[in-house]
Amino acid sequence: MASTLIDAQDKSIEDFVGDKRTHIVDGHLQNNNKYVAERAESLVGRAKTRYGEMTSGRLSTAQLGRWKAEFELRAGLRFSVSEECPACGKLGLLEAEDVENMRIETSGYSEDDYTVMGLADAAADYFVCGHCQLVLDGYELLVAAGIEPVFEVEDDDFIEQLSGEPDYGNE
Ligand SMILES: [Zn+2]
Repeated sequence: MASTLIDAQDKSIEDFVGDKRTHIVDGHLQNNNKYVAERAESLVGRAKTRYGEMTSGRLSTAQLGRWKAEFELRAGLRFSVSEECPACGKLGLLEAEDVENMRIETSGYSEDDYTVMGLADAAADYFVCGHCQLVLDGYELLVAAGIEPVFEVEDDDFIEQLSGEPDYGNE
């Protein structure tokens, strides 16, 4: 009896998200991708112009007063790595808060002499560049600007998290 009910519910949900709705969702996604691509292009373009004006000394005093260093622009997320700026080619900062694929890797010569490393893949969602003031906020925006948003990070916390919960994943 219970399974019949569930089957009926599944059926109605499937009907609800039928062809017509799927098309609407697809259309929305396409519009959103287009918006993100245009926004990335616009932000990178403006940063290029700014960088040109900065390096040739054409910025106004007011603009120079608003110019920020990398540490002032950054979001302060948990992980960060240097990354080439898509606008000016100098090094900016790629930041990430969330990680996935946590793993422990050991390397060494013997059982008594080895190193344990906690590794994970961080998925970035923030990029800043102190050289041209480019700020990209969001994973999709990073991808649209041509930045590879996933980078490997090392942290002892991963070892603790993985070894501290031996039953994790078996529940
Ligand atoms: Zn830059």
